[in-house]
Amino acid sequence: MRDITAAIFNKIRQDDPNQAEFQQAAQEFLLSVDKVIDDLPHVAYHKILDRLIEPERAIIFRVPWTDDEGTLRVNRGFRVQMNSALGPYKGGLRFHPSVNLSIIKFLAFEQTFKNSLTGLMMGGGKGGSNFDPKGKSDAEVMRFCQSFMTELSRHIGPDTDVPAGDIGVGGREIGYMFGQYKRLRNEFTGTLTGKSPLWGGSYIRPEATGYGLVYLAAAMLQDKSDSFEGKTCLVSGSGNVAQFTVEKLNALGAKVVTLSDSSGCIYDPSGIDTEKLAFIKTLKNVTRGRIAAYAGKYKEAEYYPRTENNGANKIWTFPADCAFPCATQNEIREIDAKNLLAGGVRLVAEGANMPTSLEGVDVFHDNGILFAPAKAANAGGVAVSGLEMAQNSSRIQWTAEKVDQQLQRIMKGIYATISETAERHGSKGNLVDGANIAGFLKVANAMIDQGYV
Ligand code: NDP
Repeated sequence: MRDITAAIFNKIRQDDPNQAEFQQAAQEFLLSVDKVIDDLPHVAYHKILDRLIEPERAIIFRVPWTDDEGTLRVNRGFRVQMNSALGPYKGGLRFHPSVNLSIIKFLAFEQTFKNSLTGLMMGGGKGGSNFDPKGKSDAEVMRFCQSFMTELSRHIGPDTDVPAGDIGVGGREIGYMFGQYKRLRNEFTGTLTGKSPLWGGSYIRPEATGYGLVYLAAAMLQDKSDSFEGKTCLVSGSGNVAQFTVEKLNALGAKVVTLSDSSGCIYDPSGIDTEKLAFIKTLKNVTRGRIAAYAGKYKEAEYYPRTENNGANKIWTFPADCAFPCATQNEIREIDAKNLLAGGVRLVAEGANMPTSLEGVDVFHDNGILFAPAKAANAGGVAVSGLEMAQNSSRIQWTAEKVDQQLQRIMKGIYATISETAERHGSKGNLVDGANIAGFLKVANAMIDQGYV
């Protein structure tokens, strides 16, 4: 790294030595920016990197709630308002026991550049709690969401900060939080996205991240005069992003043979067709069961409980053409990337945020794998959230067809931007560089225009 980028990375390591995920996200970003920094003296002069790595605001708060036995429980809530150069802070809320400041900061940092790539006017933020919705009753989830929103409501608003869903936060949680926000503020505004289309949500928002991921990957294949027709695909996770990734891959003629949750994965060589996907949606969204039940119902499928297995993740060992990690961060490490390569995979597109470690990404780049990083590949979700904000502001609702057309336009646009940016800066085919540099330049120029704030 050049002196200026190395100094920023050292500062992060010194100031936040325990924030491994934030360090990882910042390192990946700085390695790309390093390639253009000599051509950007104004960025150094205005200390853009020094300012970018520091959240504009990080809020940590207590969330007390009562379980069904009447026992008081206490969780920790977070909202990191990373950067508002391009618009109100925008980014999801994650409810998962692993949530801590490092994870929320890495997600908010990534979100800033992702939102920039969509071309919509949104700044970057992220939040959540170490609350685990798994195994909780609806009433417990509602009481938690109400307590969480009671504090969060002081810090958000339709022109200030507009949260959405993420891991553990779907339509149910957004509904409870929206209800509490409305009650506290006595206003019906578009302060949260991912709402039900019955009361202010956008059509295609639940589908948007998965569909958008496949649209972007399809654009990559099209550039090579190829398509998804007849391709075998590995998809991890079984939540929102995974479900709609499978749905769109099926629609484009691909066959998906895997899904997973935090307990293990299933391999179904005959393919997860529409009927089987409907079973998954009910299992995960309604009865809130485990993925193992799939193999109980469909005898052609095998279930593999999660084991450490020398660090290798079983789901990436099956033969396929394409892989879509859609569960969580660092689910593809170096050994997994090598397993994917050995299994014949030629395209990897990230549905989850930072699912591939830096070493895993190197394996893909060194071996000519088509690789789409999360901040570009999963931007469809926040893009449709941006469209939901636009619909809320004008108090109208667009048709599903119109939203889907806009989503396709935005994802094709992102692919064009990041591939051209990579080529222009001497990194042809490296979409990590393309996404980081394109996302960064727009935010940096806006920060320079707005002075030292
Ligand atoms: P969901 O909660 O709907 O699903 C998450 C899935 O990942 C579940 O199958 C879950 O299994 C699994 N999972 C979660 N944590 C782990 C873990 N530590 N190890 C193994 N499996 C795990 O979340 P989403 O589908 O919304 O989000 C998935 C990813 O996509 C996240 O990285 C998120 O940040 C990213 N993303 C989501 C967007 C959205 O619009 N929802 C937008 C952009 C990115 P289990 O049920 O066992 O917990």
